[in-house]
Amino acid sequence: MIDTSAFQGKTAAYYTLGCKLNFSETSTFGKMLQDLGVTPVGKEETADICLINTCSVTEVADRKCRQAIHRLVRKHPNAFVVVTGCYAQLEAEEVSRIEGVDLVLGSNEKSQLVQFLSDAWTGQLGNTTKGAPYYIEKTKDIKTFAPSCSRGNRTRYFLKVQDGCDYFCTYCTIPYARGFSRNPSIASLVEQVRQAAAEGGKEIVLTGVNIGDFGKTTGEHFIDLVSALDQVEEISRYRISSLEPDLLSDELISYCGESRAFMPHFHIPLQSGSDTVLKLMHRHYDRQLFADKIHRIKEVMPDAFIGVDVMVGCRGETPECFEETYTFLEQLPVTQLHVFPYSERPGTSALSIPYKVNDKDKKLRSKRLLELSDRKTEAFYAAHIGLQAEVLFEKATRGRVMHGFTRNYVRVELAANESRSEYDNQLMQVVLEGFNHDKSALKCRLVNA
Ligand code: SF4
Repeated sequence: MIDTSAFQGKTAAYYTLGCKLNFSETSTFGKMLQDLGVTPVGKEETADICLINTCSVTEVADRKCRQAIHRLVRKHPNAFVVVTGCYAQLEAEEVSRIEGVDLVLGSNEKSQLVQFLSDAWTGQLGNTTKGAPYYIEKTKDIKTFAPSCSRGNRTRYFLKVQDGCDYFCTYCTIPYARGFSRNPSIASLVEQVRQAAAEGGKEIVLTGVNIGDFGKTTGEHFIDLVSALDQVEEISRYRISSLEPDLLSDELISYCGESRAFMPHFHIPLQSGSDTVLKLMHRHYDRQLFADKIHRIKEVMPDAFIGVDVMVGCRGETPECFEETYTFLEQLPVTQLHVFPYSERPGTSALSIPYKVNDKDKKLRSKRLLELSDRKTEAFYAAHIGLQAEVLFEKATRGRVMHGFTRNYVRVELAANESRSEYDNQLMQVVLEGFNHDKSALKCRLVNA
């Protein structure tokens, strides 16, 4: 039994660390509480409830979580502080000992946030007073799926289509933090998309941990999800946040090439371009398969934007292995590299690989790949100068220039004197002109405006 009256008139502050999935889940927690009469606080106000959604992807992420918890406890001295997310799941005991934390919710429990709050306030969770917080035991069997489709802080919606992962790459703790792969039904996702469209949503990003694995729970297939969503005509654009290369089928690539609303935009984790390192990581493909997928995408969609995740300095990455990665990426027609320095995670099997890369070499390798990425992105953008494109504009920040993205994810900038609030969330035709001041976007002019 939930005592809904206890929520009425309360205020809440939300803080999210980590990936888009976390941001999407936090928005859903916000919605759940808003439905019970809880309003979000402004930047300078103090809240009655403070919810912190954490990440544990690297050592640095763990540190940032601890710092954020301390800072928010100080900022909201009278708030009931709830910590959830991957760091909370993996280090529940440590988090529960942080002064000011009232409740730690694991990955299985976070979807019942409202019930837990209600129980805590009516004394049913045992001692949850400050200094003696309640926390949830870790579970090896995380099975719940917290549905989520929320507007991000700009224009796009983020639809969670899958959670968890069965892959157990040797460097990664995500399967321990989020459990095994699971998903809701296609029908329920189509329904969420229809609701987003009814709220005015035009673009939706499909998020998850290992999205290509969609269907394990329901006996469905990712391609069927894509095709069902494509038929919701009120949505103009879909993007897929990330797909493992071995799960990116040729059938899906062909489908996207002819699709009404799936954009020519891919994000594919490579991690390493050395087969030796890929084996040490227990990845499910080799570099040849990865190259084949990239070439196939470009054959079907020559203007596709392809973002690639690369990890540098992982255990076993000798200088020769890194050079293999560098030349592999140099030769591939990809658009942007997301470079992550390897971080040692407790409990992972990668720790048993003897060869270690020092921090100085990790930094040098990251720098070289980031420079390569800048050159590739710049060349991709430059090839669009002078072309006409459809752009979905996003809310202007500080009433200045407006930004938006083309179908193939070129970032576009509309000058302040041309920007209008009514362009927010509108699809418009523009002509792409030269680079903006820091080359982070192409300037544009409106067609027929
Ligand atoms: S595919 Fe590998 S890196 Fe990605 S979440 Fe699963 S275990 Fe982690």
